[in-house]
Amino acid sequence: MKKRVLITGAAGFLGSHLSDRFLKEGFKVIGMDNLITGNLKNIEHLEGHEDFEFINHDVSEHIEIEGKVDYILHFASPASPIDYLKIPIQTLKVGSLGTHNLLGLAKAKNARIIVASTSEVYGDPTVHPQTEEYWGNVNPVGPRGVYDEAKRFQEAMTMAYHTFHGVETRIVRIFNTYGPRMRLNDGRVLPAFIGQALRGEDLTVFGDGSQTRSFCYVDDLVEGIYKLLMSDYHLPVNIGNPDEISILDFAEEIIKLTGTTQKIIFKDLPVNDPKQRQPEITKARTILGWEPKISRSEGLAITYDYFKSLSEEDLYKKEHNDFSDYIKR
Ligand code: UDP
Repeated sequence: MKKRVLITGAAGFLGSHLSDRFLKEGFKVIGMDNLITGNLKNIEHLEGHEDFEFINHDVSEHIEIEGKVDYILHFASPASPIDYLKIPIQTLKVGSLGTHNLLGLAKAKNARIIVASTSEVYGDPTVHPQTEEYWGNVNPVGPRGVYDEAKRFQEAMTMAYHTFHGVETRIVRIFNTYGPRMRLNDGRVLPAFIGQALRGEDLTVFGDGSQTRSFCYVDDLVEGIYKLLMSDYHLPVNIGNPDEISILDFAEEIIKLTGTTQKIIFKDLPVNDPKQRQPEITKARTILGWEPKISRSEGLAITYDYFKSLSEEDLYKKEHNDFSDYIKR
Protein backbone atom coordinates (compact mmCIF):
# COMPACT_ATOMS: atom_id res chain seq x y z
CA MET A 1 0.00 0.00 0.00
CA LYS A 2 1.40 3.38 -0.99
CA LYS A 3 2.23 5.91 1.72
CA ARG A 4 0.12 9.06 1.63
CA VAL A 5 1.57 12.54 2.07
CA LEU A 6 -0.20 15.87 2.53
CA ILE A 7 1.72 18.85 1.09
CA THR A 8 0.43 22.31 1.96
CA GLY A 9 1.35 25.12 -0.38
CA ALA A 10 1.45 22.51 -3.16
CA ALA A 11 0.75 25.06 -5.91
CA GLY A 12 3.65 27.23 -4.78
CA PHE A 13 7.29 27.18 -5.80
CA LEU A 14 8.61 24.71 -3.22
CA GLY A 15 5.34 22.81 -2.72
CA SER A 16 5.07 21.95 -6.40
CA HIS A 17 8.65 20.66 -6.58
CA LEU A 18 8.06 18.63 -3.40
CA SER A 19 4.89 17.18 -4.93
CA ASP A 20 6.90 16.07 -7.97
CA ARG A 21 9.56 14.50 -5.78
CA PHE A 22 7.16 12.55 -3.57
CA LEU A 23 5.24 11.25 -6.59
CA LYS A 24 8.56 10.15 -8.06
CA GLU A 25 9.33 8.32 -4.81
CA GLY A 26 6.05 6.39 -5.13
CA PHE A 27 3.88 8.27 -2.63
CA LYS A 28 0.26 9.29 -3.01
CA VAL A 29 0.20 13.08 -2.76
CA ILE A 30 -2.61 15.30 -1.52
CA GLY A 31 -1.74 18.86 -2.55
CA MET A 32 -3.44 21.62 -0.58
CA ASP A 33 -3.35 25.32 -1.41
CA ASN A 34 -5.68 28.32 -1.26
CA LEU A 35 -3.97 29.80 -4.35
CA ILE A 36 -3.28 33.17 -2.78
CA THR A 37 0.35 33.21 -3.76
CA GLY A 38 0.34 29.76 -5.37
CA ASN A 39 -0.58 29.10 -8.99
CA LEU A 40 -2.27 26.03 -10.47
CA LYS A 41 0.08 26.33 -13.46
CA ASN A 42 2.83 24.98 -11.20
CA ILE A 43 0.99 21.67 -10.86
CA GLU A 44 -0.97 21.51 -14.11
CA HIS A 45 1.32 18.70 -15.30
CA LEU A 46 0.00 16.61 -12.39
CA GLU A 47 -3.62 16.91 -13.44
CA GLY A 48 -5.01 13.43 -13.98
CA HIS A 49 -2.03 11.78 -12.24
CA GLU A 50 -3.52 8.76 -10.48
CA ASP A 51 -1.57 9.41 -7.28
CA PHE A 52 -2.20 13.15 -7.04
CA GLU A 53 -5.25 14.99 -5.74
CA PHE A 54 -5.65 18.70 -5.15
CA ILE A 55 -7.71 20.36 -2.43
CA ASN A 56 -8.32 24.12 -2.53
CA HIS A 57 -8.29 25.02 1.15
CA ASP A 58 -6.86 27.65 3.51
CA VAL A 59 -4.92 25.74 6.18
CA SER A 60 -5.61 28.50 8.70
CA GLU A 61 -9.15 27.03 8.81
CA HIS A 62 -9.93 23.57 10.24
CA ILE A 63 -8.62 20.77 8.01
CA GLU A 64 -10.42 17.50 7.30
CA ILE A 65 -8.72 14.69 5.39
CA GLU A 66 -10.41 11.36 4.88
CA GLY A 67 -8.36 8.21 5.21
CA LYS A 68 -4.81 7.73 6.37
CA VAL A 69 -2.05 10.29 6.18
CA ASP A 70 1.52 9.11 6.77
CA TYR A 71 3.44 12.34 6.28
CA ILE A 72 2.61 16.05 6.31
CA LEU A 73 4.77 18.79 4.78
CA HIS A 74 3.65 22.26 5.85
CA PHE A 75 4.90 24.57 3.11
CA ALA A 76 1.97 26.97 2.82
CA SER A 77 2.96 30.60 3.45
CA PRO A 78 3.63 33.80 1.61
CA ALA A 79 7.41 33.86 1.43
CA SER A 80 8.51 37.08 -0.21
CA PRO A 81 8.82 40.37 1.68
CA ILE A 82 6.45 42.06 -0.78
CA ASP A 83 3.76 39.41 -0.25
CA TYR A 84 3.85 39.35 3.49
CA LEU A 85 3.79 43.12 3.66
CA LYS A 86 0.56 43.05 1.64
CA ILE A 87 -1.08 40.20 3.56
CA PRO A 88 0.50 40.47 7.01
CA ILE A 89 -2.34 38.99 9.03
CA GLN A 90 -2.76 36.02 6.71
CA THR A 91 1.01 35.46 6.92
CA LEU A 92 0.79 35.37 10.72
CA LYS A 93 -2.23 33.07 10.59
CA VAL A 94 -0.78 30.47 8.25
CA GLY A 95 2.38 30.17 10.35
CA SER A 96 0.50 30.01 13.64
CA LEU A 97 -3.11 28.79 13.24
CA GLY A 98 -2.23 26.83 10.11
CA THR A 99 0.66 25.13 11.87
CA HIS A 100 -1.57 24.35 14.86
CA ASN A 101 -4.19 22.77 12.60
CA LEU A 102 -1.59 20.66 10.82
CA LEU A 103 0.05 19.53 14.04
CA GLY A 104 -3.41 18.53 15.28
CA LEU A 105 -3.96 16.60 12.06
CA ALA A 106 -0.56 14.91 12.45
CA LYS A 107 -1.49 13.88 15.98
CA ALA A 108 -4.91 12.58 14.92
CA LYS A 109 -3.51 10.64 11.96
CA ASN A 110 -0.33 9.50 13.70
CA ALA A 111 1.59 11.14 10.86
CA ARG A 112 5.12 12.53 10.80
CA ILE A 113 5.20 16.25 10.03
CA ILE A 114 7.90 18.56 8.71
CA VAL A 115 7.36 22.31 8.92
CA ALA A 116 9.02 24.84 6.64
CA SER A 117 10.93 27.28 8.81
CA THR A 118 13.33 29.86 7.52
CA SER A 119 16.62 31.67 7.88
CA GLU A 120 14.39 34.63 8.83
CA VAL A 121 14.20 33.17 12.35
CA TYR A 122 17.77 34.52 12.64
CA GLY A 123 16.57 38.01 11.63
CA ASP A 124 19.43 40.41 10.90
CA PRO A 125 22.03 38.01 12.30
CA THR A 126 24.89 39.00 14.57
CA VAL A 127 26.44 35.53 14.22
CA HIS A 128 27.95 34.54 10.89
CA PRO A 129 27.47 32.04 9.34
CA GLN A 130 24.23 31.14 11.10
CA THR A 131 24.28 27.94 13.13
CA GLU A 132 21.10 26.27 14.38
CA GLU A 133 22.11 27.19 17.95
CA TYR A 134 21.92 30.94 17.23
CA TRP A 135 18.70 32.45 18.65
CA GLY A 136 18.44 35.29 16.20
CA ASN A 137 18.01 39.04 16.08
CA VAL A 138 14.43 39.76 15.02
CA ASN A 139 12.45 42.98 15.33
CA PRO A 140 8.96 41.72 16.25
CA VAL A 141 7.26 44.99 15.27
CA GLY A 142 9.23 45.65 12.07
CA PRO A 143 7.77 44.98 8.62
CA ARG A 144 9.32 41.50 8.47
CA GLY A 145 8.08 40.65 11.98
CA VAL A 146 4.85 39.12 10.68
CA TYR A 147 6.78 36.43 8.82
CA ASP A 148 9.70 36.01 11.17
CA GLU A 149 7.61 35.76 14.32
CA ALA A 150 5.03 33.46 12.70
CA LYS A 151 7.87 31.11 11.79
CA ARG A 152 9.41 31.36 15.25
CA PHE A 153 6.02 30.60 16.79
CA GLN A 154 5.70 27.71 14.34
CA GLU A 155 8.93 26.22 15.61
CA ALA A 156 7.85 26.62 19.26
CA MET A 157 4.45 25.03 18.56
CA THR A 158 6.09 22.18 16.66
CA MET A 159 8.48 21.48 19.53
CA ALA A 160 5.55 21.56 21.98
CA TYR A 161 3.66 18.92 19.96
CA HIS A 162 6.81 16.85 19.84
CA THR A 163 7.44 17.13 23.57
CA PHE A 164 3.92 16.99 24.97
CA HIS A 165 2.07 14.87 22.42
CA GLY A 166 4.95 12.74 21.12
CA VAL A 167 4.24 13.77 17.53
CA GLU A 168 7.09 12.96 15.15
CA THR A 169 8.18 16.41 14.02
CA ARG A 170 10.92 17.82 11.80
CA ILE A 171 11.91 21.48 11.34
CA VAL A 172 13.79 22.66 8.26
CA ARG A 173 15.27 26.17 8.24
CA ILE A 174 15.30 27.12 4.60
CA PHE A 175 17.72 29.73 3.26
CA ASN A 176 17.24 31.67 -0.01
CA THR A 177 16.21 29.19 -2.68
CA TYR A 178 15.65 29.68 -6.40
CA GLY A 179 14.67 27.79 -9.51
CA PRO A 180 11.90 27.29 -12.05
CA ARG A 181 8.34 28.17 -10.91
CA MET A 182 9.35 31.15 -8.80
CA ARG A 183 6.93 33.96 -9.49
CA LEU A 184 8.45 36.51 -11.80
CA ASN A 185 6.74 39.33 -9.93
CA ASP A 186 7.08 38.15 -6.32
CA GLY A 187 9.55 40.93 -5.54
CA ARG A 188 12.44 38.66 -4.64
CA VAL A 189 15.84 39.53 -5.91
CA LEU A 190 16.42 36.78 -8.45
CA PRO A 191 13.12 37.03 -10.36
CA ALA A 192 13.32 40.81 -10.00
CA PHE A 193 16.76 41.00 -11.68
CA ILE A 194 16.00 38.43 -14.39
CA GLY A 195 12.63 40.05 -15.12
CA GLN A 196 14.29 43.44 -15.41
CA ALA A 197 16.93 42.06 -17.77
CA LEU A 198 14.29 40.38 -19.95
CA ARG A 199 12.21 43.57 -20.14
CA GLY A 200 15.24 45.72 -20.91
CA GLU A 201 15.05 47.64 -17.64
CA ASP A 202 17.82 48.65 -15.29
CA LEU A 203 18.54 46.29 -12.40
CA THR A 204 17.43 47.69 -9.03
CA VAL A 205 19.96 47.05 -6.27
CA PHE A 206 18.62 48.03 -2.85
CA GLY A 207 21.04 49.93 -0.61
CA ASP A 208 24.68 49.80 -1.74
CA GLY A 209 24.38 46.09 -2.55
CA SER A 210 26.92 45.06 0.08
CA GLN A 211 24.32 42.92 1.88
CA THR A 212 24.84 39.23 1.20
CA ARG A 213 22.68 36.20 0.51
CA SER A 214 23.49 32.54 -0.22
CA PHE A 215 21.34 30.98 -2.93
CA CYS A 216 20.41 27.30 -3.07
CA TYR A 217 19.04 25.62 -6.19
CA VAL A 218 15.62 24.08 -5.61
CA ASP A 219 16.55 20.46 -6.42
CA ASP A 220 19.26 20.52 -3.77
CA LEU A 221 16.80 21.94 -1.26
CA VAL A 222 14.17 19.30 -2.04
CA GLU A 223 16.76 16.55 -1.55
CA GLY A 224 17.70 18.01 1.86
CA ILE A 225 14.06 18.23 2.92
CA TYR A 226 13.42 14.65 1.83
CA LYS A 227 16.43 13.40 3.78
CA LEU A 228 15.47 15.36 6.88
CA LEU A 229 11.89 14.06 6.83
CA MET A 230 13.15 10.49 6.57
CA SER A 231 15.74 10.99 9.34
CA ASP A 232 15.05 10.62 13.05
CA TYR A 233 16.30 14.13 13.97
CA HIS A 234 13.69 16.46 15.45
CA LEU A 235 15.67 19.65 16.13
CA PRO A 236 15.92 22.40 13.47
CA VAL A 237 18.31 21.82 10.56
CA ASN A 238 19.57 24.51 8.18
CA ILE A 239 19.22 23.59 4.52
CA GLY A 240 20.84 26.02 2.13
CA ASN A 241 23.89 26.62 0.00
CA PRO A 242 26.75 28.34 1.88
CA ASP A 243 28.07 29.96 -1.32
CA GLU A 244 27.59 33.59 -0.24
CA ILE A 245 27.52 36.58 -2.58
CA SER A 246 26.82 40.28 -2.22
CA ILE A 247 23.68 41.53 -3.96
CA LEU A 248 25.81 43.90 -6.08
CA ASP A 249 27.96 41.01 -7.34
CA PHE A 250 24.80 38.99 -7.88
CA ALA A 251 23.41 41.77 -10.09
CA GLU A 252 26.66 41.67 -12.10
CA GLU A 253 26.26 37.90 -12.50
CA ILE A 254 22.74 38.33 -13.82
CA ILE A 255 23.94 40.99 -16.26
CA LYS A 256 26.57 38.56 -17.57
CA LEU A 257 24.14 35.66 -17.71
CA THR A 258 21.46 37.53 -19.60
CA GLY A 259 23.76 39.69 -21.74
CA THR A 260 21.62 42.72 -20.97
CA THR A 261 23.07 46.11 -21.80
CA GLN A 262 21.12 47.74 -18.98
CA LYS A 263 22.90 49.17 -15.96
CA ILE A 264 22.54 48.85 -12.20
CA ILE A 265 20.59 51.52 -10.35
CA PHE A 266 20.47 51.91 -6.59
CA LYS A 267 17.27 52.20 -4.52
CA ASP A 268 16.57 52.56 -0.81
CA LEU A 269 17.31 49.55 1.34
CA PRO A 270 14.07 48.13 2.83
CA VAL A 271 13.66 48.46 6.62
CA ASN A 272 15.33 45.64 8.62
CA ASP A 273 16.83 44.08 5.49
CA PRO A 274 19.33 41.51 6.84
CA LYS A 275 22.93 42.55 6.11
CA GLN A 276 24.36 39.07 5.74
CA ARG A 277 23.13 35.54 5.45
CA GLN A 278 24.97 32.26 5.09
CA PRO A 279 23.84 28.87 6.37
CA GLU A 280 26.17 26.82 8.52
CA ILE A 281 25.36 23.30 7.31
CA THR A 282 27.50 20.99 9.45
CA LYS A 283 24.34 19.40 10.88
CA ALA A 284 22.90 18.66 7.45
CA ARG A 285 26.26 17.25 6.34
CA THR A 286 26.81 15.02 9.36
CA ILE A 287 23.26 14.00 10.30
CA LEU A 288 21.74 13.75 6.83
CA GLY A 289 24.80 13.25 4.66
CA TRP A 290 23.50 16.14 2.58
CA GLU A 291 25.19 19.03 0.90
CA PRO A 292 24.28 21.12 -2.13
CA LYS A 293 25.58 19.83 -5.45
CA ILE A 294 24.38 22.39 -7.98
CA SER A 295 26.57 25.44 -8.47
CA ARG A 296 25.05 28.89 -8.86
CA SER A 297 26.11 29.07 -12.50
CA GLU A 298 24.38 25.76 -13.32
CA GLY A 299 21.25 26.62 -11.34
CA LEU A 300 21.02 30.13 -12.76
CA ALA A 301 21.27 28.83 -16.33
CA ILE A 302 18.32 26.47 -15.77
CA THR A 303 16.31 29.17 -14.03
CA TYR A 304 17.02 31.73 -16.76
CA ASP A 305 15.75 29.25 -19.38
CA TYR A 306 12.56 28.87 -17.37
CA PHE A 307 11.95 32.62 -17.13
CA LYS A 308 12.69 33.01 -20.84
CA SER A 309 10.00 30.43 -21.61
CA LEU A 310 7.26 32.47 -19.90
CA SER A 311 4.74 34.44 -21.95
CA GLU A 312 4.98 38.17 -22.68
CA GLU A 313 1.91 38.55 -20.50
CA ASP A 314 3.69 37.00 -17.51
CA LEU A 315 6.75 39.12 -18.17
CA TYR A 316 4.88 42.41 -18.27
CA LYS A 317 2.38 41.62 -15.51
CA LYS A 318 4.19 43.92 -13.14
CA GLU A 319 1.60 44.30 -10.44
CA HIS A 320 1.94 41.77 -7.67
CA ASN A 321 -0.88 39.34 -6.91
CA ASP A 322 -4.24 40.94 -6.30
CA PHE A 323 -5.09 39.99 -2.73
CA SER A 324 -8.17 42.22 -2.39
CA ASP A 325 -10.69 39.39 -2.38
CA TYR A 326 -8.72 37.44 0.18
CA ILE A 327 -8.09 40.39 2.48
CA LYS A 328 -11.82 40.99 2.93
CA ARG A 329 -12.25 37.57 4.46
N1 UDP B 1 16.95 43.19 -3.46
C1 UDP B 1 17.48 44.11 -4.36
N2 UDP B 1 16.75 44.45 -5.46
C2 UDP B 1 15.53 43.93 -5.73
C3 UDP B 1 14.98 42.99 -4.82
C4 UDP B 1 15.72 42.65 -3.69
O1 UDP B 1 18.60 44.58 -4.18
O2 UDP B 1 14.92 44.32 -6.77
C5 UDP B 1 17.73 42.82 -2.27
C6 UDP B 1 16.99 42.90 -0.94
O3 UDP B 1 17.05 44.19 -0.39
C7 UDP B 1 17.76 41.88 -0.10
C8 UDP B 1 18.20 40.84 -1.13
O4 UDP B 1 18.09 41.46 -2.39
O5 UDP B 1 18.90 42.47 0.47
C9 UDP B 1 17.35 39.60 -1.12
O6 UDP B 1 16.01 39.98 -1.15
P1 UDP B 1 14.80 38.97 -1.31
O7 UDP B 1 13.56 39.78 -1.29
O8 UDP B 1 15.05 38.10 -2.48
O9 UDP B 1 14.84 38.01 -0.05
P2 UDP B 1 15.29 38.14 1.49
O10 UDP B 1 16.49 37.31 1.56
O11 UDP B 1 15.57 39.59 1.84
O12 UDP B 1 14.13 37.61 2.25
